Amino acid sequence: MNIIVKDLYFYYKEGEDVLKGINLEFDDRCTAIIGQNGAGKTTFVKLLKGLLKPKKGDIFIKGLNTKETTVAKLASIIGLVFQNPNDQIFKNKVLDEVMFGPLNIGQDKNLAFENAKKALELVALLQKADENPYDLTLSERKLISIASILAMDTDIIILDEPTIAQDFISREKIKNIIKKLKEEGKLVITITHDMDFVAENFERTIVFNQGQVLLDGPTKEVFSKEDILKTAHLEPPYITQLFKRLGFSETVLNLEEALNYKIL
Ligand code: ADP
Repeated sequence: MNIIVKDLYFYYKEGEDVLKGINLEFDDRCTAIIGQNGAGKTTFVKLLKGLLKPKKGDIFIKGLNTKETTVAKLASIIGLVFQNPNDQIFKNKVLDEVMFGPLNIGQDKNLAFENAKKALELVALLQKADENPYDLTLSERKLISIASILAMDTDIIILDEPTIAQDFISREKIKNIIKKLKEEGKLVITITHDMDFVAENFERTIVFNQGQVLLDGPTKEVFSKEDILKTAHLEPPYITQLFKRLGFSETVLNLEEALNYKIL
């Protein structure tokens, strides 16, 4: 198992639990974490990455207990792309920026260079290697922040809201990146509010609600539970809802599936 979370509790202020008894296991299925603002999603992934430590319970990343492991050691196993790329950019040249992470976790210069090049190719921005990240568009900066984490070649990659404020091309690139990472056998976990993105890319979906897991299962199964989702102020993708309203009992997740029905 890649990640095991046992009876996890966390608070920022004593008496105000933000996570309340989370039990989860992550195999290698590409997983989306959804939930209202304030549900505890970002706190949860910061705990996985070891940036915060459990107040109660344990998290094991590839067998290592995050309470007993340094952030530096975890950094070579688990990468986290923050929501705002500007929180993550430190250098004034794209290539240096993407090499920063690999060098920081001890890769030698040649390996860091090769990994950075491969990561920039994957996000299709190798041609911008010599530019200043701040001369790029916000969408491109987001892709650079993703490349910086990919270059570290970690087995587990977490993306926090990757599609927010992204244009169509960048969104398609992110979809392709996730597909490639999956093919390479990496575990991809994504926090998102973008239900179409979940339906198109993720095998498993976990719903957080007020610091607890409300639903967890294959994405299709989760999106078939419209009433439970409503209690967390969430809705399935528009196309899923449309097919329900039209009287189909089957849960349809995306356009490809919808096209199997003759009405379209
Ligand atoms: P989500 O990612 O689902 O929006 P968060 O994990 O960001 O949820 O937040 C969960 C709760 O923890 C919220 O009530 C939020 O206000 C609180 N919180 C998040 N970060 C901090 C912090 N650094 N200090 C104090 N409270 C925080």
